[in-house]
Amino acid sequence: MTLSYDPPTVTLPETVRLNFDSLKSSTQADAQPVRLFGTDCLIKPHIPLASLTSFRVGGPAQWYVAPKQVAELQASFDWARVHGLPVTLLGAGSNLLISDRGLPGLVISTRRLRQSLFDPESGQVTVGAGEPLPRLAWHAAARGLQGLEWAVGIPGTVGGAIVMNAGAHGGCTADYLVNAHVLLPDGTTKILTPQDLRYRYRTSALQGKNWLVTQATFQLQPGVDPATLTKLTTQHHQHRRTTQPYHLPSCGSVFRNPRDHKAGWLIEQAGLKGYQIGGAQIAERHANFILNCGNAMASDIFRLIHHVQQEVEQRWSLHLEPEVKILGDFQAA
Ligand SMILES: Cc1cc2nc3c(=O)[nH]c(=O)nc-3n(C[C@H](O)[C@H](O)[C@H](O)COP(=O)(O)OP(=O)(O)OC[C@H]3O[C@@H](n4cnc5c(N)ncnc54)[C@H](O)[C@@H]3O)c2cc1C
Repeated sequence: MTLSYDPPTVTLPETVRLNFDSLKSSTQADAQPVRLFGTDCLIKPHIPLASLTSFRVGGPAQWYVAPKQVAELQASFDWARVHGLPVTLLGAGSNLLISDRGLPGLVISTRRLRQSLFDPESGQVTVGAGEPLPRLAWHAAARGLQGLEWAVGIPGTVGGAIVMNAGAHGGCTADYLVNAHVLLPDGTTKILTPQDLRYRYRTSALQGKNWLVTQATFQLQPGVDPATLTKLTTQHHQHRRTTQPYHLPSCGSVFRNPRDHKAGWLIEQAGLKGYQIGGAQIAERHANFILNCGNAMASDIFRLIHHVQQEVEQRWSLHLEPEVKILGDFQAA
């Protein structure tokens, strides 16, 4: 996919340089952590990813890094390029199904990009990509900044929300975003507006690219009573917990809603509520959720996704497209 706009481009100063010689031996089986030269940032080998995803399944990352500055992110991209390794970007892992075999190459996590700045006068909020969306929603409400109450039940990061155009309760990311800063694998940065991102239902121009969102600015309504906003945020939070199965690991809604239909209703009408493959089950409370009942493998979930697609296609002649991002090798499943 190519983007048709030409946003401003800035080349980052090369503040972090890699000691490439020290890396040569580190791609062997006995790999040791690699320190990005001049920083305390470590690239670690063979890191389990299951606990870093909301499904709680999946194998290890060949290499994993969680930088806390743009210069470290850039050095991480450089390191992967020098070693000819693919890069996968990881937010809170709340919309990912990662293969039991894990992921080859370098996984770059944004979880340490957490700085946030609230301007109570203008209502603008600038946050690091790794900031959890629910935390942002609570903090904005407590400061009398209206707009993000819908986000409280979405367990992703700000970066993931920008890529996915996350939304709930009639609100979505695109409605409040002013701009997003992104870092490209070649080290250039761009500032993208919602128009640049070509937002539609749960999608953006960033999907399928390896452009890393580093921070974002939202425009909220200032000067609103914090108690009123906190009450509304609490109501959304409680509504989610009573209507959706939050008690077991999942990725939220597995499938996008096809035009004019609700995926959950189609799955329920196909008689699939409670249907189970291995440790993966279609939730009784909400048929568009697949739950990890405790011992699921990623391959169980993958097979269940395909079973649902087949059943719905047979009954309704409709193809359900997964909203969850499926990563890694599932050939053997
Ligand atoms: C219980 C539950 C309820 C949910 N409810 C909702 C809901 O109501 N509405 C909704 O929209 N979603 C919902 N979700 C899904 C999920 O939380 C959202 O899609 C969320 O935006 C994903 O953010 P993340 O940080 O977890 O991204 P990840 O799952 O880590 O990644 C998702 C995609 O974004 C990319 N990505 C992540 N961070 C960055 C970054 N900084 N820069 C570039 N690319 C990046 C990844 O490479 C991947 O392609 C729910 C999930 C769960 C588990």
